[in-house]
Amino acid sequence: PNKELSAQVVVLGGGPGGYTAAFRAADLGLRTLLIERYPSLGGVCLNVGCIPSKALLHTAQIIEEAKTMGAMGVTFAPPEIDLDKMRVGKNKVVKKLTSGLSGMAKQRQVEVVQGTGRFETPNRISVDSREGKIAISFDQCIIAVGSTPIRIPGFPHDDPRVMDSTDALEIDGIPERMLVVGGGIIGLEMASVYAALGAKIDVVEMKDQLMPGADKDLVRALQKVVKKRYQNIWLETKVATMSASSKGIDVVFEGKHPGEASYDKVLVAIGRRPNGKLINAEAAGVKVDEHGFIKTDQHMRTNIPTIFAIGDVVGGPMLAHKATHEGKVAAEVIAGEPALFDPMTIPSVAYTDPEVAWMGLTETEAAAKGIEVEKGVFPWAASGRALGIHRDEGLTKLLFDPETKRILGAGIVGPNAGELIGETVLALEMGADMEDLGMTIHPHPTLNETIGLAAEMAHGSITDLI
Ligand code: FAD
Repeated sequence: PNKELSAQVVVLGGGPGGYTAAFRAADLGLRTLLIERYPSLGGVCLNVGCIPSKALLHTAQIIEEAKTMGAMGVTFAPPEIDLDKMRVGKNKVVKKLTSGLSGMAKQRQVEVVQGTGRFETPNRISVDSREGKIAISFDQCIIAVGSTPIRIPGFPHDDPRVMDSTDALEIDGIPERMLVVGGGIIGLEMASVYAALGAKIDVVEMKDQLMPGADKDLVRALQKVVKKRYQNIWLETKVATMSASSKGIDVVFEGKHPGEASYDKVLVAIGRRPNGKLINAEAAGVKVDEHGFIKTDQHMRTNIPTIFAIGDVVGGPMLAHKATHEGKVAAEVIAGEPALFDPMTIPSVAYTDPEVAWMGLTETEAAAKGIEVEKGVFPWAASGRALGIHRDEGLTKLLFDPETKRILGAGIVGPNAGELIGETVLALEMGADMEDLGMTIHPHPTLNETIGLAAEMAHGSITDLI
């Protein structure tokens, strides 16, 4: 090696899991070093995931909302879209956050090494950096190398017209006809953005509903809205072949809606693959399964006691808030604290328009497992606030244990569902019951009061003003 470094804790990967773990370890007094292959910290979430997608979705939402204002007597001209400025605006948000992270690393004296790391032994990682090879030895290590979009063998992924989520976030053009392969959260979020910008969208999904994992009643409300915005939504349909020609990307579909069509752009959003196989983990004795996941215990420890793993690479929902919490646990365990990753739930949110959010037990899971639940549903068509913002498609649903009346799960669809679900997550963590939620005075008129009202619906009757 050209250079040798050492630290008490080395974190491999600077995404939300990795930087959180590194900062926590440093705060707990451990000499910490963070390895990241890209110049900017923040991983997928800050650079090409959560943050840029939400910046674009905000723009999309305003475009869509402006169209509905005619009912209130205000008509806007069709939007003029400057993609270069849109990209600059989005990149500024990302830059502000990622440069903030570099500052926070400096403040805490976390040494950041830029380069690609691979294990050499259970106590050493070798980093390929611009200054050549760096050998880094450690007492304990946290693997936080994240995940990458899945590609389908045989699809022309190298053609620039076939995009993954990272390409789609670059918005380097507005295609006239666009296909979104995969009706999950990422596919539908990007479909919202491109539809608002004027692309004609088809969505194809193998399963029998959009957003598999979310309850059907929530998805129905989303589908009612997006059905009007997209050309086609094909469920139980699969892409059989995809080929590039001079006129477009030609796609053949099979399943419930067989046929062929040609597109200017295709977004493939069928899931993400963990990066566990790319770090030579065998050299450290760390077990990686056939998919690339690294299994851990609740302390985030791998099969090697001095090596931990967190975030997308350990499996479970691939979400930033899961990664950050796991990161804190790993750092605290290393520092000798009695930490454990044991959440009652990890909430899911699709920032589509309308948003779909759920936590805890879903109705689908309850039915599949034969768990009896008591349900309280409040339709937003009866919410003054929802009507005032012309969004009556929403729904707030709470599931309770029939005996103890404790909350078991919640699902919300409608604008800001992602913000609203937080109260129900806290309720679950605190063991709140139907009365706690129903008798809590929620401010009126808010979308938030639909949670109290749904609890009252479960309890029997509603007497409040709505
Ligand atoms: P990552 O963020 O993947 O970070 C891993 C880091 O490790 C990367 O920076 C990578 O460069 C680095 N790395 C990998 N291998 C090496 C190596 N050998 N050497 C050095 N460095 C290496 N989640 C949400 O919770 N909310 C959202 O709204 C949301 N939106 C999303 C939108 C999109 C379009 C996408 C793609 C994802 C979204 N996610 C969202 C998921 C979220 O981004 C991930 O769950 C999260 O980033 C995982 O964090 P992580 O730390 O495990 O890994």
